[in-house]
Amino acid sequence: MALIQNTKHENVPALIAKVRVSVPIPQLNSKNLKNEFDYLVTDSMSVQKGSVVQVSFANRIIWGIVYECSHTTEIEQAKLKPILSVSQVPPIDSVSLKFLEQVSEWTMAPFGQVLRMMLCVPNALSKDSPVFGYTVSSSQGHSKQLSKARQKVISWCQSNPPVSASLIAKETGVSSSTINSMLKAGLLEKLEITSELIQNKQSVSFSLRKAIEAASKIKLSEEQALAANKMAADNNRFNVSLLDGVTGSGKTEVYFDVVKRQILEGHQNLILLPEIALTASWVNRFKKWFGFTPYIWHSGISMSHKKRIWREINAGFPAVVVGARSALFLPFSNLGVIVVDEEHDAGYKQEDQVIYHARDMAILRAKHAKCPVILATATPSLESWTNAQLGRYQHIMLENRYGAATMPDIQTIDLRKFRPPSGKWMSALLLAEIEERLKSQQQILLYLNRRGYAPLAVCSDCGVKQSCHQCDSLLVTHRLSNQLRCHQCGIAHPFKNKCQSCEQTDSIQLVGPGVERLAEEVYQLFPEARVSILSSDTLTNPSQMETTIQSIENGEVDIIIGTQMVAKGHHFPKLTCVAVIDGDLGLSGGDLRAGERTYQMLTQVAGRSGREQKAGSVFIQTSEASHPVLQALRSQKRDDYFELELAQRENAHMPPFTRLAALIFSSMNETALAQYVKKLESQKPQFQNVFIYGPAPAPIYQIKGRFRVRFLINVPKQVNIQKIILDWHSRVDMPSIIKRQIDIDPYNFM
Ligand code: ADP
Ligand code: ZN
Repeated sequence: MALIQNTKHENVPALIAKVRVSVPIPQLNSKNLKNEFDYLVTDSMSVQKGSVVQVSFANRIIWGIVYECSHTTEIEQAKLKPILSVSQVPPIDSVSLKFLEQVSEWTMAPFGQVLRMMLCVPNALSKDSPVFGYTVSSSQGHSKQLSKARQKVISWCQSNPPVSASLIAKETGVSSSTINSMLKAGLLEKLEITSELIQNKQSVSFSLRKAIEAASKIKLSEEQALAANKMAADNNRFNVSLLDGVTGSGKTEVYFDVVKRQILEGHQNLILLPEIALTASWVNRFKKWFGFTPYIWHSGISMSHKKRIWREINAGFPAVVVGARSALFLPFSNLGVIVVDEEHDAGYKQEDQVIYHARDMAILRAKHAKCPVILATATPSLESWTNAQLGRYQHIMLENRYGAATMPDIQTIDLRKFRPPSGKWMSALLLAEIEERLKSQQQILLYLNRRGYAPLAVCSDCGVKQSCHQCDSLLVTHRLSNQLRCHQCGIAHPFKNKCQSCEQTDSIQLVGPGVERLAEEVYQLFPEARVSILSSDTLTNPSQMETTIQSIENGEVDIIIGTQMVAKGHHFPKLTCVAVIDGDLGLSGGDLRAGERTYQMLTQVAGRSGREQKAGSVFIQTSEASHPVLQALRSQKRDDYFELELAQRENAHMPPFTRLAALIFSSMNETALAQYVKKLESQKPQFQNVFIYGPAPAPIYQIKGRFRVRFLINVPKQVNIQKIILDWHSRVDMPSIIKRQIDIDPYNFM
């Protein structure tokens, strides 16, 4: 669309803009999903499609995006509110807008809610407060009687662009008061300077290129180079590569190589990582390769940093952004490649507000941007693996660990034969192994994906399991903080050893282990060992995490006890023994992906072992040694397991062969909820091949006092599941005390 300026004179109708506001309007019907409203473009305002504008909406001033402009008659115009201001940032690229629209359509989240993820840095949109610089006054001639200090300032300012007083003072070594007095004396004058985007695209491109040239050259192995060349060969159009390499094969180095080629061509690149994998050691590795620091994007970085990144990305500057899933919503306008590292990771699914899967949305984004996507993993999701098998994705394999490292040996320890003593969690076999490693000064990782001390607290008097009063969830005992906690809603009560039901004191029995209890056992058996517990309770902030990881890398820890937090991404050179305390945890349960997920998690944990010269071992304690997941891990025949799992999914008409959507309705008012879902049930669409299960109480019926009822929809993949949901739901009005969550391709079946 051409730039339109509203020049108003007699008889010329006014200009109206359709603005999509960044506020979600929840009604589920196709018109409102867009969240689009008319505003008046006032005189002298220049707007076009993509312009970011400020408008008044529901008594608030908010940001929105112009979608269309048209002329209208005076009568209509009188009723409209004007656009309040136009942001100075360049209009959002139409490719980005198309992406937002499709995310909204796919997830069925209101457009405003999706838009808000992109317009998430208000500072970047609003005008900067003016910044002043000083320059030599043009009106004054300079006499010779100037002091030395004043002369210094004058000559410095004559050969430099206008900058702040403090910078001039710093550069010339004179005091700020001298500069102020020179201003008063008319020797200097004050000019408004822009603080932002002093650089331009070419200069950024040039300095990144120089940094790469100066960085140390790392040579890829033959296998790695082959993989990188294959992916880079087809880099100017949309395509998906599944970079499927065993743990320690150097997948990171391979995609670095591809990203590097894109940067040299001046493109923007996005590397998505699961949040906890983004560590200082990862960034250091990046710096070694590229010679510059990437833009890091996640919820924890400062607003001023975000502002700079947002503006540069929106202006199309070449860059590498590495971030958590939210980085996908930066206003990229010049994408070279998107990498989704650990593509199978469940952390890519956002479970609240806009419910989306970052891997799937990355593919969508790349499709619009016409750029390649790399999905890197040692344990592909069955969805991606199937796509690769069918030839929809390029399947790139790395079969060997880099350098001298070999794959660890994986064994199971049958707990039915080698049962630990009562109240203990490690078998004699495992203890012997740990002793051995400690003697030869190697590290051991004990993996138990359970936070706290004990998962179950039960009254020995009345038999009641202690549970949360506002969730259907058992309370977990935490010894370090001496609390009983609900892992569902986070509520914590002081641990008083008193039954919540019969009020008997000293009657609480703690059942089962969490990492804290396992640590207790380790302290007793290996009092000399240096032990570190890694869980989200012991490491509560990134810097704590960083220090701990560093001390493990430096070999200052002998035994690491950790939850899933340590399972992924880390490279601990001295770690040669991984023990999975409870290999059965996660195998059962009604979750569609229980087996797949356990397989992925255990492969990742196992992959921490023996990543350098010394060969690694893995021991998995289990009561189900013959379970297909454990068999596959032992024999390291992943694809056989995938085939088996897929055959079961196909039989059961489940993804990746069909598509699911979960609809969760929740309310504090149980009766109103029941009435509403009953009405919905009576309006269920009747189509062949469309199966709607429910309404049924959700597996966790109550969370934070809200009752939850679920429908599950299962359709063939070619069916438009969104349309079915939309048609169905627009037939029954939803009372405002009910909350609806639509989850397309659910991963979480709570
Ligand atoms: P993956 O992500 O496949 O598990 P990594 O990328 O972590 O594997 O690589 C494993 C280790 O091998 C890392 O320490 C990495 O720095 C090293 N490495 C891999 N490829 C190379 C290479 N070409 N040159 C030097 N070191 C490499
Ligand atoms: Zn709770």
